[in-house]
Amino acid sequence: MINLLDLDLEALSATCERLGEKRFRAVQLFRWIHQRGKADFGAMSDLARSLRDKLADQAQVLAPALIGEQVSADGTTKWLFDVGGGNAIESVYIPEAQRGTLCVSSQAGCAVGCRFCSTGHQGFSRNLSTGEIVGQLWFAEHRLRERLALPDGERAIDNVVMMGMGEPLQNYAALVPALRVMLDDHGYGLSRRRVTVSTSGMVAMIDRLREDCPVALAVSLHAPDDTLRDQLVPLNRKDGLQALLDACVRYLDAAPRDFITFEYCMLDGVNDHDEQARALVRLVQGRVSCKFNLIPFNPFPESGLKRSPRERVLQFADILQRAGLVTTVRRTRGDDIAAACGQLAGEVHDRTQASRRMSRPAIRLHPADAGVRR
Ligand code: SAH
Ligand code: SF4
Repeated sequence: MINLLDLDLEALSATCERLGEKRFRAVQLFRWIHQRGKADFGAMSDLARSLRDKLADQAQVLAPALIGEQVSADGTTKWLFDVGGGNAIESVYIPEAQRGTLCVSSQAGCAVGCRFCSTGHQGFSRNLSTGEIVGQLWFAEHRLRERLALPDGERAIDNVVMMGMGEPLQNYAALVPALRVMLDDHGYGLSRRRVTVSTSGMVAMIDRLREDCPVALAVSLHAPDDTLRDQLVPLNRKDGLQALLDACVRYLDAAPRDFITFEYCMLDGVNDHDEQARALVRLVQGRVSCKFNLIPFNPFPESGLKRSPRERVLQFADILQRAGLVTTVRRTRGDDIAAACGQLAGEVHDRTQASRRMSRPAIRLHPADAGVRR
């Protein structure tokens, strides 16, 4: 059985051809699936019966199985999906006055193993398929249209951020077709500016994304120097910050936005000193057009880390802002249902023994020890 959620429009057209149908039938089928949210071929009334029968024999529209739904007091909604083999993934819908955002997962677990991330602590289980990535949006969009009783043609989600579980650029082959479905006018018709890939900074893959499917880019920075970043985001040891910033500059040539978003998770006593804010300014100023998004750390027991106090975050933001860097502090949403950044956990078998790797010595707290340039 082919899962049609695995296919972008080009691949669906090729599939239709293989079934002996004209390629343009794929557009109709694609619209039934993504725009109308249908999985039942019998209901696709403008498709020839012969095609519907062939589809029923050979294809299906299969999203990951829903196993839990939690709605927060602020309307934030978290869905838990079973993706088989004891693995679960989560997606989060964040309603805002002007838009609706869906935070989508790309992997069950994550191999990068960032110190402050609950997904990272679980280790890596497996990559999601394109259908499992698209299926989160397919499910959420149509579920919300029903719940919010939206009039025909109005969509619930107009912004997608690949900021759920997993490192999207470590699942590149499945990610790119999924992005294409999101962007396709016959699919979800999202603007490139409103689809954001968030990465912990895989330099070679940032270059590939720029060639294959440029969308908005967020880079999880978290530290102003390699010594600290090596500890917080282990893959930094491969390329280092300078190479990462160069890749960001190259990306801007093709990007739909004229800035990169740098995410910076604020960890008490680790990366939140004034001197570290000044080091960040020296790192990026005049080099890469960017905005900073400071994320209050969402603690979880195994991390051994604490959230920076509110005043510290504001002071840090102030230093960046005074240097002319646009800086926002992310409002934490869905706290009461553990749907905030870095709290997505699902139930993932730890196949990489991340918990053992993570029980390394604590991060040194003094900024001088942490290698801040003076
Ligand atoms: N792997 C990608 C995308 C998923 S993580 C990445 O790292 O960018 C999405 C964002 O949540 C990242 O910026 C990440 O640093 C942040 N995050 C992870 N754990 C967090 C936590 N415990 N508190 C706050 N933000 C966290
Ligand atoms: Fe993976 Fe991103 Fe979590 Fe790091 S922050 S462990 S890259 S999901």
